[in-house]
Amino acid sequence: MIRACGLAIGVGIAAGGCALGTALVGLADLSLWSVLAPSIGSTTLAAVLLMAYGGAAERSAAQLSQPVPGGDASAPGAAWPALQRWIVAELYSAVLNRLRIQESLESSLRAADVRLRVAELEARHSRELLDALREAVVATDRFGDLVFINSAAARLFGLDPEKSIHQRVDKVITDPSIARLFRETQPARSEAGRKVFEQSFKVMDRPVDFEVAFSGVALSESKDERGLMGVFRDVTREREISKAKTDFVAKASHELRTPLANIRARIEMLADGDVQDEGMRAEFYAVIQSETLRLGQLVDQMLNISRIEAGITQAKWEEVDLAALAQQAVDVVRSQAQDKRITIESRAGSLSYTAMADREMMLQVLINLVSNAVKYTPEGGHVTATTEVSNDNEAVTVFVDDTGLGIPPEALPKMFQKFYRVEQHQNFAKGTGLGLNLVKQVVEVMHNGEVGVTSAVGKGSRFWVTIPCRRKK
Ligand code: ADP
Repeated sequence: MIRACGLAIGVGIAAGGCALGTALVGLADLSLWSVLAPSIGSTTLAAVLLMAYGGAAERSAAQLSQPVPGGDASAPGAAWPALQRWIVAELYSAVLNRLRIQESLESSLRAADVRLRVAELEARHSRELLDALREAVVATDRFGDLVFINSAAARLFGLDPEKSIHQRVDKVITDPSIARLFRETQPARSEAGRKVFEQSFKVMDRPVDFEVAFSGVALSESKDERGLMGVFRDVTREREISKAKTDFVAKASHELRTPLANIRARIEMLADGDVQDEGMRAEFYAVIQSETLRLGQLVDQMLNISRIEAGITQAKWEEVDLAALAQQAVDVVRSQAQDKRITIESRAGSLSYTAMADREMMLQVLINLVSNAVKYTPEGGHVTATTEVSNDNEAVTVFVDDTGLGIPPEALPKMFQKFYRVEQHQNFAKGTGLGLNLVKQVVEVMHNGEVGVTSAVGKGSRFWVTIPCRRKK
């Protein structure tokens, strides 16, 4: 009997888990367990085992109170139930342990699965964020192999992200200066700080100014797994704006200083009593007056241009007859033309068209063009302002033609730039170099129109402005 029980205990304990069903066969008729176990839940299984344990104990008590055939006849039958209960209890506890382990494994698996999915979602989210950036982002591992590029970087360097990943960065980004930047910065990747460079690269054969910020990034939990991330920001436009501002201030100060110096020199001489001659004094006063006017004009033009550029000029929109406005501009400039014996006229078709415009600003535009035509035309010339409507009746154009000095071809593209003056004209007439820029700002920015110029040196010029219009009822 002892051998039989010892065997059962041995089998039961050795089974511990997977062979448990086999051990139970002899003791508690629980062979069904091995069939049911995979398909039923652990709680149900525990209940089944409890019931089986109760039933088996009862039945075994009855069977084991009989002497074991061939066993020790002197052993008291009463020892059987206690041993039996002990074995079943051991097995029961082994089964429960196994169930607990299985349950905890399953819940760990579920948690790991959730963590994996969260990590995947987070990775996708980060990728989408990086892809939405205008800046190009490139990351390499510690060997200088590409591990990440965002969409902007793929566009900038003309790369296919799929094919470029895991390639050496200097193999895929062929621009030598960028490759050098990566090479030189790679050893510093473990440093936490950022290194910022300014570098100009050719992108599609066009020089582009970049601000490149390199920083070491952790690629995994391990400290050694640090890579390098480069963020490329196109600062070309910023640089252009800042240069334009500096140029503007430099040119504006220069332009302001010239009339101021003229005024100051004359005032000092007058104040010191150095100018005794009446005629010369009168001449000095005239210069002071004209330079003061020029200063005022310069300041007004600068203010108007910067207000339009800043978008703070409020237009007073109204229906404006451009032909009538051109006539008005010609009338304003007529006396200036007569002083130089220049004939001046305005022409317009029979049909009248109106444009939604700011009357005062458009009048200023036309006065600028007509007065320039007179200013840069030698004595005896001719100036005409002609108003025409486009074939589709959608736009009205005023052409201002003169028979003046004309403009050299190389100067034509710069005509509407701030402070630009044709060098050959500087001694011919005084000016600020801001009038045409103001024309462009008013027409293009405020009226959604266009400006242009054609010219032939020694023959004359044609300036034109076009704005959208509609036919007058
Ligand atoms: P300003 O006349 O005060 O110098 P503008 O901006 O009006 O400034 O003109 C810029 C330059 O364009 C002038 O200095 C002149 O050299 C040239 N220009 C303008 N209008 C004419 C024209 N009708 N014929 C020839 N050159 C012109």
